[in-house]
Amino acid sequence: MDRIYLDHAATTPMRKEVFEASKPYFSDKYGNASSLHTMGQEAREAVEESRAIIAKSLNVSPKHIYFTSGGTEANNTILKGIALSQKKGGLFSKKRGHIVTSAIEHPCIMNTCEWLKTQGFEITYVPVDADGIVQPDVFEKAIRKDTFLASIMYANNEIGSIQPIKELSKIAKDNGIIFHTDAVQAYGKIPLELENVDAVSVSAHKLYGPKGVGFLYSRVLFTPIMHGGGHENGQRSGTENVPGIVGMGKAIELTFKEMDAEAKRQIVLRDKLITGLLEIPDSRLNGARTERLPNNVNVSFIAIEGESLILMLDAEGIEASTGSACSAKSLKASHVLMSLGLKHVEAHGSLRLTLGKQTTDEHIDYVLEKVPPIVAKLREMSPIKPSDKEEKYEDKCFKDSDATVPRGMADLGAKAPRGR
Ligand code: PLP
Repeated sequence: MDRIYLDHAATTPMRKEVFEASKPYFSDKYGNASSLHTMGQEAREAVEESRAIIAKSLNVSPKHIYFTSGGTEANNTILKGIALSQKKGGLFSKKRGHIVTSAIEHPCIMNTCEWLKTQGFEITYVPVDADGIVQPDVFEKAIRKDTFLASIMYANNEIGSIQPIKELSKIAKDNGIIFHTDAVQAYGKIPLELENVDAVSVSAHKLYGPKGVGFLYSRVLFTPIMHGGGHENGQRSGTENVPGIVGMGKAIELTFKEMDAEAKRQIVLRDKLITGLLEIPDSRLNGARTERLPNNVNVSFIAIEGESLILMLDAEGIEASTGSACSAKSLKASHVLMSLGLKHVEAHGSLRLTLGKQTTDEHIDYVLEKVPPIVAKLREMSPIKPSDKEEKYEDKCFKDSDATVPRGMADLGAKAPRGR
C-alpha cells in the first residue's frame, strides 16, 4: 500500500486543479497586479476574482478581504492591528487595554498575545471544559469593562473541538467588543456562523491550496503592521502573490462545492477510527465526541511516548502527529491537552490522525490493524505503566512545569513545539 497520510491538519496536498489554475501566473501571466499595462491588469483581474470567491464563501463584502501570507500573518495582523489602533484611542476610550482569548489557541495567537503583554496590554486566557470547549458563561465572565477585543478559534487544530462561535460572538457584540476568530482549521470543513464576527483568519494550505497564502476578513479597520506601497487598501503592503491567490481561490471554490458531502463521508471514517482505537486498553479520546471537526481523531494511549508511536507508525507507512514533543532538555506536553485537564501520563501518549479527501475505508482498516500491536510493544518497553501514579511518571520522565495557569503557556517559548 502507498503511504497513508493522516496529517491533514498540518497541511494538505495541493489539488491538481489548483496547480493548473495558478501555473500561468508564474511564467506566462506574470504581471504585477499594481501595473497599469495589460499584463498587470490581467493579474489584477485574477486577484479580484479570487477575492470575490472568498467574499462569497463568507457572505461578506470583497472590500473587507485582505490577502496575507497565511494564517499566522492574518492572526498577527488583526491582533496587533486592532491593539495598535486601540492604543492610539482610535477604537474605544484609551482606557481599554484588555484582550480575551482562549487557553487552547494556536501558538500564533498565544505568542502574539504574549508579545502584546510586553506592550502594556492585559490578556485573559479563558479555560476550556474537559471537551475542549469554551463555555459561553465563562467567556462572558472574562469580559471586563476595559476589554476591547476577543479572539477565539473556530475549531482547534489538535483536538478538533468546535467552539460555540455564534454564542460567543453574540456575547462580544452585546458587550461592545470586537470579535475575531481563527478559522484556519474550520473554514471549508464546516459551515461558519459569522453574523456577529468582525474578523476571520484563513490559510490556503489547509484546504488543498498553496502554502504561503491566506487571507484576513475584517470589517473593522486596523492599523497596518506591514508598511510599504499601500497594497490591499493600505492595510497590508507587499506585491500580491498572484499565483498563490489564484490557487487559493480555486481551492476554495472546489472545497465549498464538496464540503457537505465530504464532511458526511469523513465523519463515518472518523467515528470508525475513534471506536476502533478506543478498544485499545487504557486509551481515551481527547476533545468532544460530537462538537468535533469531521476529520479529527485525537486519542491518548496512557503511559506511552507519542513521538515513539509516530516513528513506529511512520515505519509502517502511516503519517501521523502527536501532542508530545521532546526538545533538548525536556519532554513537553501540548498546552491544548494540558488545558483539558489531562495528566502528563495521558498527554504524552497522544496520537492525532487527521483525515482528508484521499482517506479511504481501507486506510482506516490498515491503521486499526497497525496501531494496537505498536501500542502494546511500546508499553512493554516503557518504564511507566498505565496504573502508575502521576508523580511516578513525572519522576521517571523529565520534570516539566507547564501545568500553570493558563496551562501550557510556559511551553510557548523559543523551544516550543510549533503548532500545526
Ligand atoms: N491557526 C491554526 C488553528 C492553525 O492550525 C495554523 C496552522 O497550523 C495556523 C493558525 C497558522 O497558519 P499558517 O500555517 O498558514 O501560518
